[in-house]
Amino acid sequence: MSSGVIEMENQSKNSNENLHDSSIQKMPAFDCSCGCRILIVPDLFAMNNAIKDHIKEHKQLTGKVVTEQFLADAIIVTLAKDATIDQT
Ligand SMILES: [Zn+2]
Repeated sequence: MSSGVIEMENQSKNSNENLHDSSIQKMPAFDCSCGCRILIVPDLFAMNNAIKDHIKEHKQLTGKVVTEQFLADAIIVTLAKDATIDQT
């Protein structure tokens, strides 16, 4: 998305509520094949819990079992892609 600049301009004009929303949108997220979005947080403990929660959720949605390692790897790939996008 190229709307990053516009969002930043809105931030300075609008209230703190919008500031808060924008900071959430900036968080990277992993879009799983099952259609769920896992928010990628800098807190390792929270990230581990999110992965463990999603393994259960993913199984309920698709009937397929994913491993923690698979999700962790997929999240790292997502982060690497985000970093590339930011540079362009
Ligand atoms: Zn999933």
